[in-house]
Amino acid sequence: MRRLPLTLLAAGLLLAGGIASAATTIPASAVKTAEQLRDTALHDGTAMAVVTSLTTEVGPRLAGSDADLRARQWALAKFKALGFDKVYSEPVTFPLWQRRSESGAIVAPFPQPLVLTALGYSPATPKGGLTAQVVKFSSLDALKAADPASVKGRIVYVDYRMHRQKDGHDYGMGSAVRTGGAVIAAAKGAAGYLLRSAGTDAHQRIAHTGVTGFRDPAKAIPAAALSNPDADQLDRVLAYGKPVTVRMDLDCGIVGEYTGANVIGEITGRKHPDQVVAIGGHLDSWDPGTGAIDDGAGIAITMAAAKLIGDLPQRPDRTIRVIAFANEEMGLWGSRAYAQKHAGEVGKFVLGTDSDFGAGRIWRMSASVKPQARDAIWQIAGVLAPLGVAYDASRPGGGGSDLSQMHARGMAALGLTQDGTRYFDWHHTANDTLDKIDPAELAQNVAVYAAWVYMAAQAEGDFGSAPGAFAKDGTGE
Ligand SMILES: [Zn+2]
Repeated sequence: MRRLPLTLLAAGLLLAGGIASAATTIPASAVKTAEQLRDTALHDGTAMAVVTSLTTEVGPRLAGSDADLRARQWALAKFKALGFDKVYSEPVTFPLWQRRSESGAIVAPFPQPLVLTALGYSPATPKGGLTAQVVKFSSLDALKAADPASVKGRIVYVDYRMHRQKDGHDYGMGSAVRTGGAVIAAAKGAAGYLLRSAGTDAHQRIAHTGVTGFRDPAKAIPAAALSNPDADQLDRVLAYGKPVTVRMDLDCGIVGEYTGANVIGEITGRKHPDQVVAIGGHLDSWDPGTGAIDDGAGIAITMAAAKLIGDLPQRPDRTIRVIAFANEEMGLWGSRAYAQKHAGEVGKFVLGTDSDFGAGRIWRMSASVKPQARDAIWQIAGVLAPLGVAYDASRPGGGGSDLSQMHARGMAALGLTQDGTRYFDWHHTANDTLDKIDPAELAQNVAVYAAWVYMAAQAEGDFGSAPGAFAKDGTGE
């Protein structure tokens, strides 16, 4: 090695020292404990017991229904029973939408019933139903381009078909057809809106519900999803080239306001109680099923992971906060209320993400953190690798669905992608029930969360959370 002038050498040492002090690392003892947590979690039945309890004792949990209150009482009691130090709730107010009854039929040329389900924020049809001619579009873009004269007074039907994928990316368009398509159809003067269910099952005569983008009830029209086989049937009838008339008979709508709550449990940090590692899921579900994969699983995974850390002989350095969010399904109401309330403390949310993509194995991790925290993320990746989780350093973290709002305000975030190959077969349907959860896959999720959450709680240094720090990542909404 060439000899360097002393001053240069000193400057180099200073620089190296500066970088070393800024870099975030996870102590070897914490890595070891994280590995033990990971291995323990694989044989721990807590998450399965939690999701079984929630889906059995509360069942469906439509936001604002009687079960909303029962779910919150359940969450408060469950956090306490699992040994959380601090359990509380924060109110969330949202429009109260109710589903009372729904049916549909082809009136002409071949009269017969259709299986459909009303969408969130859909108003009711007039008494006796809404009967109108159907105008079909093969895509959202085709609807966007349509002349309003071709749509006015008709029932718009958008026929977009989702396909199974590991990362479930067709839901990007599937949900856009449901939320945005309904709004576009209404703006063009349509009388009603139908879509092929945003779901990947092809042979189940069960429709997938979900929210629309209607925010102003004065501009909303009755909107519903057809089951995939019923959409196929409507396609066949339309293919005769004759005018097709459909009746939608929906009794549903907004009946006022409701105040629910985000329910929160904490394992209090020993050294830095005000610094938080944030995880969670959403407590509400759609009403046809029992909300097992969406999102009883997320509640169970994160409660169980934090509980395992709480079972350690010593409290972690930082606080672990599990948030059971209110009303995610009808537009991230709990998430947005939470981010609004806590925006000023975003720098104290050290790292976070929520679980809301079912109960399949986690196969990919990504992160939105400051450059000096990348090594710590690689340390986390090293502990997760034996679980089959690959770290993709080229992707942003995102923070899940509900914590995306805190991420948008500057919280450093992970992205933990579950295997969603079958998720959209059952999502938002009567088939979202406990039997769809594989206990071993659920336990793998708990292992991932227990390990990374503990490592984030013990990290020496932070991950870059600060107001506006990750503005480029977008909101994930
Ligand atoms: Zn969900």
